[in-house]
Formats: sequence, C-alpha cells, structure tokens
Amino acid sequence: MMWVLGLTGGIGSGKTTVSDLFSGHGITVVDADVIARHILDQGTPALAAVTERYGKQALTDDGSLNRGWLREKIFAEPEEKDWLNQLTHPLIRSQLLEELEAAASPYVILSAPLLVENNLTRLCDRVLVVDVSEETQRQRTLARDKVSSDQIEQILAAQASRNERLAAADDVINNEGTLSELAPQVKALHQDYLGRAQLKRAREKALQTDQGQED
Ligand code: ATP
Repeated sequence: MMWVLGLTGGIGSGKTTVSDLFSGHGITVVDADVIARHILDQGTPALAAVTERYGKQALTDDGSLNRGWLREKIFAEPEEKDWLNQLTHPLIRSQLLEELEAAASPYVILSAPLLVENNLTRLCDRVLVVDVSEETQRQRTLARDKVSSDQIEQILAAQASRNERLAAADDVINNEGTLSELAPQVKALHQDYLGRAQLKRAREKALQTDQGQED
C-alpha cells in the first residue's frame, strides 16, 4: 500500500496552492473533487442511473449532466441528496483507491475539501490541514471567485468547522502569512513524509519476507 497524505482545508484556505508546492517536489496529487466531477461525465453508469431516476430534465441539450439543475434538486430535497451520495460515493472511493495505488511518486497526496466530513481520513496515513481564520477564507474566496457572500456563507456552513478539521490533523500549515512563507513549510513536511513513506515500505517488505519464510 502507498503511503497516503490526506490534504484538506476549508474553502479558500490554500489547499491548491499547497498541493501545487508538493507537486513541485514530484509528488502525485489525487484530487477528490476532480474525480467526483468525472464520475457523472457523459457515458458513465452513474449518469445513466441519474437519467433513469429523473428523466431528460437532468440533462442539457448535448446529453451531459445539467449540474446546476441537479445542485438545486439535492439542495431542495435532502432525500435526493442521500440517494445521489449512495450512488456516487462508492464509485468515487474506488476510483480514488485506483489512482492512489497507481501513483509512481515516493508517496501520494489525497486532496479533498471534505476529507474529514466524508471519512476519507481512513484512507490516509497522515492528515495535513491548511488552516486560516474564517475571515481570511471569506476574503480570499471573494477575491478569487465570482461568488456572493451568501454563497460563501452556505459553503462555510456545509463544511466542517475549523476546530473539527484541526481535531483530525496530524500536521497543520498556518496560511495566514504571505505566499512566500508556504514553500519552506512544505519543504520541511515533504522531507518528513519521505522518511515516513520509506519506513512504511521497509516495514511491509520485512513483513512479506517473514510471511515468505513461514510459508
Ligand atoms: P477551494 O477549496 O475554494 O478550491 P483552496 O483551499 O484550494 O480553495 P486556493 O485556491 O489555494 O485555496 O487559495 C485561495 C485563494 O487564496 C487563491 O486565490 C490563492 O492564490 C490565494 N492564497 C492562497 N494562499 C495565500 C497566501 N498565503 N496569501 C495570499 N493569498 C493566498
């Protein structure tokens, strides 16, 4: 099994900025959001199941998922959100596992905004939280996206609280400072993770040798 670092943080905390820095050290990043989006791509079994349940109204003219329609549907009807989660979560999880195992770097990062909320910490050897105050989350998200303050408040309310996330953390990057303060923190953590991943590989190899001798 690969040594997996779970990387998380609330909206606008700096996850992408931090994961880009790890990528710069040659580490593969598996992004749960990207996988979640592709699970409902055109031609997938999940999109066929959605169409069977809701009919053509769930699709745009070109036959792809009408994501805005579905977002509103599950926002208004929580039982539909449960149905969709039951459909997509196992598919997302198995795709995640496949991509984590396929990674060719010394360790691999699983980046997920909802790592804690969706219990993905179970797939991780260690959890790194990118932490900023809610005020900074609001400011940076507003500066980056074309979203309203109301939308940001909704997302903040739907995500784990700062304390819940920090309770799941093994390591924390405080990202209240400048961008240039991030690189040395990532470099130091990267060195630590290389050592931990190497240790895991050595332990598993020793275990395999022991089992081989017992057989
Ligand atoms: P989301 O979950 O919303 O996708 P994220 O956690 O991936 O967000 P980023 O996109 O990395 O967050 O960062 C949010 C914004 O804040 C970006 O515009 C980024 O350039 C900026 N940013 C990140 N870190 C800092 C920093 N230390 N100082 C100033 N701006 C920053």
